[in-house]
Amino acid sequence: MATPESIHRLLSVAATLLDHAASEIRDAKLAPVRENIERVGEALAEISELRQRVYEVAPELMPEYLKQPSEHSESNRLLTRYMFQASEYELAGDLESAVETFQEYITLEESAFHRDIAAGEIERLRNATGTTRPINQANAQRRRLRQPLGAFFTPLMKAPAPIVATGGCFCGAVRFRCGGTPRSVVQCHCGQCRRLSGAAFTTWVSFAKEALSLSGQASLSVFQATENVTRHFCKVCGSHVYTSDARFSNVVGVPAGAIEGELPAKPSAHYFVSHKAAWHTINDALPQFGGESGFEPQDA
Ligand SMILES: [Zn+2]
Ligand SMILES: [Zn+2]
Repeated sequence: MATPESIHRLLSVAATLLDHAASEIRDAKLAPVRENIERVGEALAEISELRQRVYEVAPELMPEYLKQPSEHSESNRLLTRYMFQASEYELAGDLESAVETFQEYITLEESAFHRDIAAGEIERLRNATGTTRPINQANAQRRRLRQPLGAFFTPLMKAPAPIVATGGCFCGAVRFRCGGTPRSVVQCHCGQCRRLSGAAFTTWVSFAKEALSLSGQASLSVFQATENVTRHFCKVCGSHVYTSDARFSNVVGVPAGAIEGELPAKPSAHYFVSHKAAWHTINDALPQFGGESGFEPQDA
């Protein structure tokens, strides 16, 4: 019978298989290795999103390690960077540099959990240095069977969901953290966005509502911009912090300018281009949507 639990089980199996595939892509050097492993990583991120949906309806299925607060985001990000660096050395056959990369990481990392992952990788690399290549299929098969399932992404998947964006208002009274993959990043040229921001358009990064966590909420004020749209802004400095829309109650939009540093994804399209400021010219090749609804495809 199809239940949240059966879906949960299937997704766990799918994640384990994908993770195993990532290890094999690395071991078989399936070119382009890095891109291929990243593709698997993207698929795993999607599965992880699906699992979150399952936990929303069946919280008892959520594993213990996901219940911890998301304090590991920086560690996840740093480890991912070092893992890719080390895997590039490994692919080039320079196992010593790969080991050194993880050793360097261990000296920088404060989280014991993440240091353990790196130590495990060092051990795996050291073992690999000592072994000769399998000479026939049977050996290769035996060697593969000895490998633990899920060597590549599993450690990262066990860590809490990474925080992908942090930011806040101008004065610092309100701060936010957004976890998980953004749903979309778009440029909105509608009249509301123009007047509310005072700029030609607003770049919106939308996240699952539960992915947004706020501090300093006492300093937030609310403006009902339309029947459906509520604008949340800092009552001290006036910065726009996020917007919610009653028609899309699971999503919030964060203005990209409030996010610090790199955006978690690049803008993918322009919307409401028929309403854009006459004095503004769109100079990129992103798809454009407009018309009365703001969402009809336009000839660029
Ligand atoms: Zn403020
Ligand atoms: Zn707009």
